[in-house]
Amino acid sequence: MTTSPISSMANVSTIAAPVAKRQPPDAALQAAVAEKSALVMARLNSIIARHPNVVFANSLGAEDMVLVDMICQDNLPIGIFTLDTGRLNEETYTLLEQVQKHYANCNFQIMTPDYQLLEPWVREHGINGFYDSVENRKACCNIRKLEPLARALKGQDAWITGLRAAQSVTRQNMDWEDFDTLNNLPKFNPLIEWSEKEIWAYIDLNQVPYNALHDRFYPSIGCAPCTRAISAGEDVRAGRWWWENPETKECGLHKAK
Ligand code: SF4
Repeated sequence: MTTSPISSMANVSTIAAPVAKRQPPDAALQAAVAEKSALVMARLNSIIARHPNVVFANSLGAEDMVLVDMICQDNLPIGIFTLDTGRLNEETYTLLEQVQKHYANCNFQIMTPDYQLLEPWVREHGINGFYDSVENRKACCNIRKLEPLARALKGQDAWITGLRAAQSVTRQNMDWEDFDTLNNLPKFNPLIEWSEKEIWAYIDLNQVPYNALHDRFYPSIGCAPCTRAISAGEDVRAGRWWWENPETKECGLHKAK
């Protein structure tokens, strides 16, 4: 058994510049966001026209909150679901409740892991067994994320994500139109070319609710035991599975075609 990376958490860098302290978007940024928002709306409408049964996987991250806002403000016929792994941060559950109230016109489906898979795995590997190896970590992601995702996608024609190319090395070659070979479905990433700055400008301009952890230097938020704060200059996904190489840092939900 390897040493738990929890022991290294004491070295987590202090927060250099919380999101809450960012500058208000200037005119050029506002214009860029307006232009890109129009493109995203056109993309969403083109997806709906081609795929009547389409769902959006809402991770409740900043990017996904932009898409939630666009879908719910326009009452677009796109189902929204969230994978509740059972290990999310309290701040994420608070946001989920806030989102359900803020966008009362939208239905937010919550998918949970299959206990018949989860209980034996935890019994064998321990409650935090995902720290012991990449294989264990991927098995935990498989049970808590991939299997519920497959159930959420059952019977659907396509799915939508809030992925951006700039988020990590594993996402740089993704297109806005993709294909999910695992679930055998078209997959769309309408925010693919947005920058971090543009995402936050949209959130500020439209007063979109967001996870309080973003103000504590968590740009990318997953499960509580597998996410930590980063310091200025680090890759935005550096706080996810920080004990692994960048090339392995995906849970399997998003693989390029
Ligand atoms: S992110 Fe961590 S806790 Fe969450 S499903 Fe993956 S390994 Fe398990």
